[in-house]
Amino acid sequence: MEIEKLLIDLKVLKKGHFLLNSGLHSEYYFEKFRILENPSATTKLCGIIVDHFKGLDIDWVIGPTTGGVIIAFEVARQLNRYAGFAEERAGKRIVGRGFDIKDRNVLVVDDVLTTGKSIQETLNAVELKHGKVVGVGVLVDRSNQKMGFEYFATYRKAVENFEPDNCPLCKQGISLTKPGGV
Ligand SMILES: [Zn+2]
Repeated sequence: MEIEKLLIDLKVLKKGHFLLNSGLHSEYYFEKFRILENPSATTKLCGIIVDHFKGLDIDWVIGPTTGGVIIAFEVARQLNRYAGFAEERAGKRIVGRGFDIKDRNVLVVDDVLTTGKSIQETLNAVELKHGKVVGVGVLVDRSNQKMGFEYFATYRKAVENFEPDNCPLCKQGISLTKPGGV
């Protein structure tokens, strides 16, 4: 599969034994910044989201900080629409900065959907400003869940997460890696 090969070549999709932010362990990890640091890969993958949604009437493209800002910008650039973002302020995600999405059609986008928390917070933030969500598009969906909206992912891989006490990779003695980095 072409997109999977791209994700492996860019070292986005990594196989091993990873400690996730949630504290759970996993055999796969998606390092989204290996996409976001590469404008041509980001442009290409965002183009697949654009192809999927271009038939819809879209006014704004909004993504959650941090990676979603870049995805929203590139998708909006290709659609020739407005780009904005939903940021965290005082523990709550909001669409601020004077982004005028009231009664406008909004496509919500993000890089990697893991738990869906950032997307759900962004949907709530858009609705709070009376924007109308017409779809949700992500580059990579590593969850196993169903989304209520018109939903699209350029690549899906349902990755199982393990409790540390019950992790088959731990039992095999494979060394644990904390991905990401500051
Ligand atoms: Zn483990």
